[in-house]
Amino acid sequence: MTAQRLRGENLCVGYEGRRVLDNVDFQVIEGRLTILLGPNGSGKSTLLKTLARTLGPERGQVLLDGKDIHRTPTRDVARKLGILPQSPTSPEGLTVRELVGMGRFPHQRLWQQWSRDDERAVDDAMAIARVTEFAARPVDALSGGQRQRCWIAMVLAQETELVLLDEPTTFLDLKVQVDLLELLVRLAHEQGRTLLVVLHDLNLAAAYADELVMMRQGRVKHSGSPEAVFTAAHLKQVFDLDANVIRDPHTQRLVCVPTLAGSSPAPLAAASPLHATTAPTQP
Ligand code: ADP
Repeated sequence: MTAQRLRGENLCVGYEGRRVLDNVDFQVIEGRLTILLGPNGSGKSTLLKTLARTLGPERGQVLLDGKDIHRTPTRDVARKLGILPQSPTSPEGLTVRELVGMGRFPHQRLWQQWSRDDERAVDDAMAIARVTEFAARPVDALSGGQRQRCWIAMVLAQETELVLLDEPTTFLDLKVQVDLLELLVRLAHEQGRTLLVVLHDLNLAAAYADELVMMRQGRVKHSGSPEAVFTAAHLKQVFDLDANVIRDPHTQRLVCVPTLAGSSPAPLAAASPLHATTAPTQP
């Protein structure tokens, strides 16, 4: 049974009069990992920020548990929804533990600034994101990948049921990217949390998404299971990418392999156990 805790209806969003999202309807499915794909500038970050209440729509509305999110107090939203924007910056000299602790602000009360629960949530989040060893160090003295993990820990410490992440794998080694995606899948499937993640890596998206959404020029072009959405025709239409979509024989996951300009089909392909679907030629 699926439900929609977070949905955008007829969203039109722009910057200084320039329309970026054009009448977008979007719903995040509960307890699933939804991954948002699209070329640079297609409006993914804009959609994420609008759904998280950081940006207001010119038209349309975002409903969080049935209520207009842009009329809901910050703290109420922050108890339910955590967002990691792209390239966040932290105040100079802030330690990792202090940064991760900032994720607890929606849970704090005037009369009780810091509880055992806050302490536990921060420790857990740092352990999951593997930043415990850096706890006392300033965030700005860490490498890009280490810093990214601290930000992820901060969002995890917020312990929200809805988690929105904008390109969280930037700067991370491939192994760490895979670990992070495995973690996100566990959060959804084992803890019932709802995740919406912008990714730029097509194959990681196809491998881990429950739901895949492809955007182009401010519109949602395709959404559904990776099986339905991750096709050569859609990659061509959305990314202008000529690629074959094949199945990894070991995991059965879909993988896209860009075709080289001017290359003829390799003889190996015929003998290969992989099933390929080829991008259609352009009209
Ligand atoms: P994506 O995340 O898919 O790369 P964005 O949502 O960041 O796309 O951007 C969509 C469009 O909106 C781009 O043309 C971008 O230049 C423009 N845009 C994004 N942020 C701003 C901003 N703060 N001010 C003006 N234009 C912006």
